[in-house]
Amino acid sequence: MIELIVVLKPETTEARVQEITERLEKRGFRVHHSQGEKRTLLGVIGHPEEGLSHSLEAMAEVEKVVPISRPYKLVSREFSPENSVIELNEQLSIGGKQIVVMAGPCAVEGEEQVLESAQEVKKAGAQVLRGGAFKPRTSPYSFQGMKGEGLEMLNRAREETGMLIITEVIDPHNVDKVARYSDILQVGTRNMQNFYLLQELSRIRKPVLLKRGMSATIEEWLMAAEYLMSGGNYQVLLCERGIRTFETYTRNTLDLSAVALAKQLTHLPVVVDPSHGTGRRELISAMSKAAVAAGADGLLLEVHPRPEEAFSDGPQSLTPGDFQQLMDELKGVASSVGRSI
Ligand code: PEP
Ligand code: MN
Repeated sequence: MIELIVVLKPETTEARVQEITERLEKRGFRVHHSQGEKRTLLGVIGHPEEGLSHSLEAMAEVEKVVPISRPYKLVSREFSPENSVIELNEQLSIGGKQIVVMAGPCAVEGEEQVLESAQEVKKAGAQVLRGGAFKPRTSPYSFQGMKGEGLEMLNRAREETGMLIITEVIDPHNVDKVARYSDILQVGTRNMQNFYLLQELSRIRKPVLLKRGMSATIEEWLMAAEYLMSGGNYQVLLCERGIRTFETYTRNTLDLSAVALAKQLTHLPVVVDPSHGTGRRELISAMSKAAVAAGADGLLLEVHPRPEEAFSDGPQSLTPGDFQQLMDELKGVASSVGRSI
């Protein structure tokens, strides 16, 4: 367990960071590094003896030593007071001023459908194309996705349009393959506590979007994120996608308080998925705007060229026209909270 976070002064050299790390390691601690924009933070993992804080604080390079009280450590805002800004490519990052929009069909259904979706959502201003090739479905008789073929189709859409790709990974043995085809790997609600999958994802160096389990508390969700970070993958995006409540008029209850709270408790970017969060097309616009007002750093939206023909989640999919209108309307909401879209 990380007990202490050592905040180093901005001017500390890499050589000194290394020396301090080695000194701690000699005393039996493991050390986690986090390189922020301005300073390096060290997470000291182990059971610090009395006086360790003081002896660290006595070092010239140490600005302060922060004991971490939360069960999640690296995920905690105590560990990294500044927002984490995660680079998706040279032009695009998430967690900064710009709100990132990820849009596309629930599932990859065929080459033309993916390409048409990609062109439509790109035209309306989305930067990332979503689409599941592996679909974890409640019923074994439902469409399970186009699997490897679907990944190839996403790849062609990426080549044609230049969009980034987010797609779901469901099998720990498939992590490297899905990582080759995607810019962000998505962990679905049903796999939030698939710890073996999370451990595999902690070894790669690509962003992972971690959906909140449909019955997970906020703390369980953040502990799942800790699995990713403790294994060394710091590129974690949290995603609120609705939780199960007694309400039946909506598919799930979109928990926007979790968005505002996650922004306080953690330094990680938070994405909102109003499509699965409500299950109803007519609610997506209002919930997307509310999500941006609540502090979301990104939106994950289902858009299908012909929702009535969708293999899955048609009722919650926007038409390209709806999506274009939403993107136009979101601009004003984003600027009212100091963001751009
Ligand atoms: C999805 O985004 O395609 C999906 C399956 O979502 P969830 O895991 O939130 O149900
Ligand atoms: Mn879906």
